[in-house]
Amino acid sequence: MGFQLNKLVIFGVGLIGGSFALALREAGAVREIVGVGRSAGNLEEALRLGVIDRVAVDVASAVQDAGLVMLAVPVGQMAAVMASISPHLSAQTIVTDAGSTKCDVVALAHQHLPGHLACFVPAHPIAGAEKSGATAASAELYRGRNVVVTPLPEIDPAAVSTVRALWETCGATVREMTPQAHDEVFAAVSHLPHLLAFALVEDIASRSDSEELFSYAASGFRDFTRIAGSSPEMWRDICLANRTALLKELEVYQAQLARLYAMLEQGDGAALEGIFNHASQARNAWALKKTD
Ligand code: NAD
Repeated sequence: MGFQLNKLVIFGVGLIGGSFALALREAGAVREIVGVGRSAGNLEEALRLGVIDRVAVDVASAVQDAGLVMLAVPVGQMAAVMASISPHLSAQTIVTDAGSTKCDVVALAHQHLPGHLACFVPAHPIAGAEKSGATAASAELYRGRNVVVTPLPEIDPAAVSTVRALWETCGATVREMTPQAHDEVFAAVSHLPHLLAFALVEDIASRSDSEELFSYAASGFRDFTRIAGSSPEMWRDICLANRTALLKELEVYQAQLARLYAMLEQGDGAALEGIFNHASQARNAWALKKTD
C-alpha cells in the first residue's frame, strides 16, 4: 500500500484484531501497534507473540493521534468502548470495527460517536475460526477472504479508501453492502448455523448418556458441530444483536424441519430423496465455487 499508518490501536487483541495487526505488520503497513484489552493475560501473550508493540496505559493516550482505531471486541462491548474513546479521538483518526453484526454497531456509532461519523467505517471480515484470543491470531487469516464494509451516508470517502486499502493489504477483497442487507444475509448463512450447532451439541450434552453418545460421534458430528466450540460470549452478543433477522431465519428453518418431520412420519422416501438431492447438489456446487 502507498502509505504507512503511524499508530494502529487495537481494542480486543484476539483472533480478529490480532490477525489484522499481524497482517499489517508483516506488510510493513504500520509503524506502531498499541493494544487495549480486558484480560491482562491475553495482552501479555499478544506482546510476547509480537502482535502488539505495547499495551496502552490508558484509553486517552492510546487513541491520541492514532491513524486508525480498530474495535475488535465482542459486539456487546462496542457501546462501552465507543463511549470510552469518543472524548479522546483526534479529528483525523479513522475508527473501524470488525463486529459480526452491523445494524447494532451503526446505531451505537450514532449514539456514542456522533461527532466522528465521517471517520467511522463499519466492517466485518468474513473470516474466522472457533478459536479465540491472541494465541489464535494469524497474519494469513484474511488472505483470499471477503471483508464487508457498510459505510454510513455521512462518511468521508477517504476514510473508506484507507480501510479498504488496509484490508486489501491483509490479502482480503472488500465488498460493500448496507448494514440491513448485511445482517439479513449473515443471519441466514452464519448466525443460524451457529445457533443450530450449539443446539445440537447442547441436546446431546444434556442427556444422561451423553458420554456414551459422544464416544460414538464421528466425522459427520465433527463437521456439523465444529462451530459450537466458538466463544459463547461472542455468539451470545451476535444472536442478541441480530435477533430480529435471526428469529425470521429460525422460523423458516423450523418450517423446513416440519416438512422433513412429516415426510419421515409418512415414510415418504421419494420426497426425502428429492430434498436431499436438491441440497446435496447445491452444497457441492457451492463448495466447488468457494476458493477459501
Ligand atoms: P476474541 O475473543 O478472540 O477476541 C476478543 C478480545 O476482546 C478478547 O481478547 C477480549 O479480552 C477483548 N475484550 C472484550 N471486551 C473488551 C473491552 N471492553 N475492551 C477491550 N477489550 C475487550 O474474539 P474474536 O473472534 O477476535 O472476535 C472479535 C470481534 O470480531 C467480535 O465482534 C466478533 O463478532 C467479530 N468477528 C469474529 C469472527 C470469528 O469467527 N471469530 C469473524 C468475524 C468477526
